[in-house]
Amino acid sequence: MGGAGALVAAGAAGYAGRDEIRRWWWRTSGRERPRTDGVLDHPGAEWVAASSANWRRAQRPDDYTVDRVVIHVVQGGYGDALRVFRDPLHEAAAHYVVRKDGHIAQTVRELDVAFHSGNRRFNERSIGIEHEGYVDRPGDFTDAMYVSSARLTARICARYRIPVDRAHIVAHSEVPGTDHTDPGPHWDWGRYLRLVREAPVS
Ligand SMILES: [Zn+2]
Repeated sequence: MGGAGALVAAGAAGYAGRDEIRRWWWRTSGRERPRTDGVLDHPGAEWVAASSANWRRAQRPDDYTVDRVVIHVVQGGYGDALRVFRDPLHEAAAHYVVRKDGHIAQTVRELDVAFHSGNRRFNERSIGIEHEGYVDRPGDFTDAMYVSSARLTARICARYRIPVDRAHIVAHSEVPGTDHTDPGPHWDWGRYLRLVREAPVS
């Protein structure tokens, strides 16, 4: 992928939309931002790289506008999420995983499109955050997890000027076309949004 030949081929294949051309320009202009393994978008996070099969290289927000945060629950533990994200056959990964004690792993750079919502357009415009635990176990959603995740979301919203509301911070279950139910009925949205609004973003 890349180079003038690919651009022409893509054009011939019908990629005529203005957005697509803008994206190809970023790819072929030599203006890709450098990305270094281990460089993080969220201070204090631990870098645990997902397999490159589970995300797509991009230049967000130059090529795609980022205007959504998608909240997930793993249906498993923190280690389970990291293990499947590293598996090239899993075909999915989120940008972050939050542990019950509040510890955060970043697994995909925010520049890149992580395959987390089951909807290509939504993946292109969103940051995905996984939370350790199960949708039917409300005790899994600890105070430390809410506070830590809210600070992460607050910083994301500040970075991309995303409004802090339920139209822009959404459940995986609300993504069009998905059959997933997470984070489920026990996720306390009122509390979460309040924590996001109150969180320090510096
Ligand atoms: Zn999910």
